[in-house]
Amino acid sequence: MSASLPGSRDLPASRYDLSTYWGRVRQSAQIADPSATFPPTPPQCHLPSDITPVPPSLRHHPSATFPLYPVPPTQWNPTLFVSSAGLEHAKQLITSYKTGQVRSMTPELWEAKKIVDSTLHPDTGEPVFLPFRMSCFVLTNLVVTAGMLTPNLSTRGTLFWQIVNQSLNVAINSANANKCSPLSIADLARNYVAAVSASCTVAVGLNALVPRLKRISPNTKIVLGRLVPFAAVASAGVVNVFLMRSDEIRKGIDVFPVQSEAQKADREKTGKGVESLGRSRKAATLAVGETAISRVLNATPIMVIPPLILFRLQKTDLLKARPRMVLPVNLGLILVTSVFALPLALAAFPQRQAIQASSLEPEFHGRGGDGGLVEFNRGLSYPSSPPIMSVPYLVNDPKGHIPASQRIPVIARPFVSERAKKTLDLVERFVEEDCIPSDAVYIQQIGVGASIKDRFDAHPPVIEELKKKAKAIGLWNMFLPKNHFKEGAGFSNLEYGLMAEYLGKSRTASEAVNCAAPDTGNMEVLAKYGTEAQKKRWLVPLLNGDIRSAFLMTEPQVASSDATNIELSIRREGNEYVLNGQKWWSSGAGDRRCEIYITMGKSDPNNSNKYRQQSVVLVPADTPGITIKRMLSVIGFDDAPHGHGHIEFKNVRVPVSNIVLGEGRGFEVVQGRLGPGRIHHAMRSIGAAEKALEYFLARISDPERKPFGQQLSQHGIQLERVARSRIEIDSARLAVLNAAIKIDEGDAKSALKEIAEVKVQVPGVLLDVLDRAIQAYGAAGVSQETPLASMWASGRTMRIVDGPDEVHLLQLGRNEAKRGDALRNRINQQKDKSKAIFSQYGMQPLDVLQLDRVSGSAAPKSTRL
Ligand SMILES: Cc1cc2nc3c(=O)[nH]c(=O)nc-3n(C[C@H](O)[C@H](O)[C@H](O)COP(=O)(O)OP(=O)(O)OC[C@H]3O[C@@H](n4cnc5c(N)ncnc54)[C@H](O)[C@@H]3O)c2cc1C
Repeated sequence: MSASLPGSRDLPASRYDLSTYWGRVRQSAQIADPSATFPPTPPQCHLPSDITPVPPSLRHHPSATFPLYPVPPTQWNPTLFVSSAGLEHAKQLITSYKTGQVRSMTPELWEAKKIVDSTLHPDTGEPVFLPFRMSCFVLTNLVVTAGMLTPNLSTRGTLFWQIVNQSLNVAINSANANKCSPLSIADLARNYVAAVSASCTVAVGLNALVPRLKRISPNTKIVLGRLVPFAAVASAGVVNVFLMRSDEIRKGIDVFPVQSEAQKADREKTGKGVESLGRSRKAATLAVGETAISRVLNATPIMVIPPLILFRLQKTDLLKARPRMVLPVNLGLILVTSVFALPLALAAFPQRQAIQASSLEPEFHGRGGDGGLVEFNRGLSYPSSPPIMSVPYLVNDPKGHIPASQRIPVIARPFVSERAKKTLDLVERFVEEDCIPSDAVYIQQIGVGASIKDRFDAHPPVIEELKKKAKAIGLWNMFLPKNHFKEGAGFSNLEYGLMAEYLGKSRTASEAVNCAAPDTGNMEVLAKYGTEAQKKRWLVPLLNGDIRSAFLMTEPQVASSDATNIELSIRREGNEYVLNGQKWWSSGAGDRRCEIYITMGKSDPNNSNKYRQQSVVLVPADTPGITIKRMLSVIGFDDAPHGHGHIEFKNVRVPVSNIVLGEGRGFEVVQGRLGPGRIHHAMRSIGAAEKALEYFLARISDPERKPFGQQLSQHGIQLERVARSRIEIDSARLAVLNAAIKIDEGDAKSALKEIAEVKVQVPGVLLDVLDRAIQAYGAAGVSQETPLASMWASGRTMRIVDGPDEVHLLQLGRNEAKRGDALRNRINQQKDKSKAIFSQYGMQPLDVLQLDRVSGSAAPKSTRL
């Protein structure tokens, strides 16, 4: 669909006025008619520009799954078999409109829109598998409909065709489904079973009932029998609508104030979205009821008219003498009805419904927009997603939107698969459209002003919604690199690094896709070193996102940047280890869902090898003897609910089978854990720096802010800061991607230098860019007004966590210094060789500034250097 193409301008949805019934009929007829019966007319769409093109994330509502047969054949026209060159041309035309190069719709553009909309998936921008394109619906369904409407079907035949029909609906809906607001497999299966059960029960039941009806003529019984498939399909559709959207009726759907023409014009200029007034259950009931009715209406023409006409025709001598003609006649009738009668039914209700605000719940009274009206999307809003605004979120360029996959630095491109590129674009959309708008909701759901206990007991519902969505669109566990783990999503460190950049722009995104620290590192430990039993108990629920984890190394009483100092005691007693000591900065321990502590301690303090004294054991968080004494703040932020705990262990007993890798191998485990994790942190920090720069740019281009008579962007010093930020972010990104490629080529050990470099470089860049952005916002920059202050607090910790800067710098410096002797030797050898070459030419080496100025005639003629 055109939504997937670059550019921020929305195309009008139709050349017809979709607010009128006949406008919708013409639209439906045009797209259902293979020969495009209606000649092109100038655009006359009167719908508000912000709502006419339904936002991409709303385009394919899950409730469209198992629609009442038949699904609207949205785009059946000759565009179905468009060539790839034709498709490319159409895409170029659409892009030129969306990026503002072409100002108004032309007949050629309408045609291009038809081609693109009928071929490409709205989210991925990839062509949909041909038989499952909506444009192919009439053709693919011809056979199924004819099968269902076959006169005198046996029970087995009836069941067969009903199941085939529902299965085809699943296939078509899945192929066209919204990748940003999709159904989970479980929901899909539940609804499939319900629709199949409803349609089969009604079909078989009525088939048995109709022949037994008394006081009805045989002809009427035959007619009723022929309408049984209609009843079956209609009831399956209605059951499906209510099942799918019961949540909407319970929670309500978003309603928006209708915009006046002036407001629309203003919105187009500023790019501001229309904010939801809140959720209305009354609007939801109306929307769901209308959708159910429309599903019955949509099924009526195709499933009622052809069987009735066929019944009459079968009485004529023509068909009586030629029973083989029944099938082609049936097919012809269905096809003709699809084209001519279906549009009348499809047009029954507008997609966006406007009603008086006063007809909804009291909280909406008096809050309507133009004419006191509010509007809502009849069938497309995701049942329980956060409020969605119709904002062109992804605009990132003066010309519109350049997808993330097209912004991959040139040097990294050869290492990125097509699949990763698609996923990257999906990550970008998910973060920008779903996660970032949910961040504030998440913070509020933790509890503004709530007690410490309540804040750390909180489990914001919005995160579970996001997780559900992310899982369903395949954004899950992307962090586990493919060349080392079979459990992950099959991406390389580089590919995941590119994705992690976007995750770093949102507070909720990493957790939403199950790629949040410290779980990522902990899962790597379990996947790499865990026994099968340990994996089953801890890794599986972690990979599913059902529990969370913490990594306990740092201790309050010792300098923990040197892991050999760690002294929590791990003493073996029979088949158990007994743990005693203190830990702090145990990130994630505050979360009630944190069920496992991966704990480092000393099991062999007298070992002569100081790197063999430590062990790592798995400690279930509910083991007796553990007290989370307090939570620690990060420059004033509590980071609830996961937080950073100060934990006491008093005679905590775990079975010896909970050891990781073996006694004395704790150092190895910790080393193995930290490598790729640092790349993850670094890439998220690059994303955070990009976000800071975005805020910076937004502020300096704000026309309302004019210190000393000029917008900030006209003050040269600000532009210089922007330029520096751009340079620093871009070079830091290259360094991180380089490190990721190096890990992919070998392992974390072989990339120690590159990892250390970015571990030091990136937090510095992030803090510098944040500082410039904060400065541009003045006092607002250090307050809760923007996310910059909390981003700075969290960014600052990056110079300490996973080893302070100094440790890495020392290591890097030491390793660099090791080359000193070799380099000195090389330089001397080169000098010697140079002397030899001089002598070949009979020359003496001279100093380039040799002067030989002598004072007094007795003075020796020599250089005085
Ligand atoms: C937000 C946050 C989350 C954290 N999460 C976790 C977690 O989940 N699990 C966990 O175990 N730990 C965690 N930590 C702890 C973190 O890993 C440690 O703070 C870090 O390793 C430093 O250890 P330390 O605090 O004991 O400082 P120390 O080791 O005492 O070091 C203090 C300072 O000494 C200086 N220094 C250290 N070594 C050298 C050197 N070689 N040369 C010169 N100067 C040096 C540095 O300036 C350093 O900052 C977290 C910390 C923060 C802030």
